Amino acid sequence: MPINADRIRRDIETINSFNATPGKGITRQTFTAEYQGAVNYVIDQCNQFGADVSVCPGGNVRCRLAGSDESAPAVMMGSHLDSVVNGGRFDGVAGVVTALEAARSMAEDIASHRLPVDVVIFPEEEGSRFGRGLLGSSIWTGILDADQIISIEDANGISYLEAMNLAGFKVDENRLLEPAAVAAMLEIHIEQGAVLEKRGHRIGLVEAIAGIQQLNIKIKGTADHAGTTPMAQRSDPLQAAARIIIEIDKIARSTGPRTVATVGRIVCEPGQVNVIPGIVRFSVDVRDSDEKLLESAVGAILQMVQSVCNQHHLEVESVRLSEAEPVVLSDTIIDLLEKKSIEKNIRPYKMISGAGHDTALIAGLTRAGMIFVPSRDGLSHCPQEDSSIEDIALAAEILLAAVIELAK
Ligand SMILES: [Zn+2]
Repeated sequence: MPINADRIRRDIETINSFNATPGKGITRQTFTAEYQGAVNYVIDQCNQFGADVSVCPGGNVRCRLAGSDESAPAVMMGSHLDSVVNGGRFDGVAGVVTALEAARSMAEDIASHRLPVDVVIFPEEEGSRFGRGLLGSSIWTGILDADQIISIEDANGISYLEAMNLAGFKVDENRLLEPAAVAAMLEIHIEQGAVLEKRGHRIGLVEAIAGIQQLNIKIKGTADHAGTTPMAQRSDPLQAAARIIIEIDKIARSTGPRTVATVGRIVCEPGQVNVIPGIVRFSVDVRDSDEKLLESAVGAILQMVQSVCNQHHLEVESVRLSEAEPVVLSDTIIDLLEKKSIEKNIRPYKMISGAGHDTALIAGLTRAGMIFVPSRDGLSHCPQEDSSIEDIALAAEILLAAVIELAK
């Protein structure tokens, strides 16, 4: 059976009916009643075509369509159903409904496949409830140990494992995900940027997922009277921060074609109209798919920060908040997805993902690939987030064709 766009549309609508903020975008945080409802809908759909459902470590849900060889490694496809607060209808959902539709089509088809085919749902991809993104896949792949998992809780002090049990996700498959158990991983996701739309492509193939380094910078000067302190006697950290922020932009533009750097948060103390600031804190988020360029950009930023603060005679502290290495996805999978796209008269655009995805972690275990579909005006993580059902269905056709070949 071919991919059915109407069923995809219906699945998206039903999943998004599980929403804590109707009329204000989608809010479906991990292990809430809305999350449980959305996951149960997908499980129910998978049960209808005879899939075998397991809850794996960390509350990852795996719906397996058995192949003729029970012991063969599985072809995995899927994404996440948790959302940010007041987010969009397609982030994560697009990847789950397309995996569901591809598995459903395979189940309806008489052609057999040797490898099992799994539809997977990774919890807490966004980190919007428990403060850490890619959490489900981090637990399933064993990146986090038991002690680390136990200490994770939400803003109300409810632990991740407690919330998981309360929502009815009882682990019945205790094994961590291991390389021998997975033959390939494929994820469809909305682009969350405007590159595909601007270039007029309907399908993007992700060659690498950018690495991220985040810094917190604190510059200390002297808070003083805005009227009585002559310009020559000031120790104003905000003046230094202003110069630094302009330089960060220049460093990103001159490092590499895909380097991006953002200062997204700035706090100025005491924050009064008539007081020279005493302390300025700001964040820096730097991304690149090339590890060396990423390191070089961060190195240049740290050096520049120190030098500007020296010139201004100011104290500075720079702390690295988090880092994720860039992940290169599988050439074999990209070639296969490209071949399947061209067979449908589609010329895909090869690109880098600036956002992190669960597939980045699964790529540590197996050959992995991602298909992007355009986001209207590049908007995401907001109620305006939009993608066309036709593009999503097209991505599902390419996914299905690739999975049939991989699962032979
Ligand atoms: Zn997402």
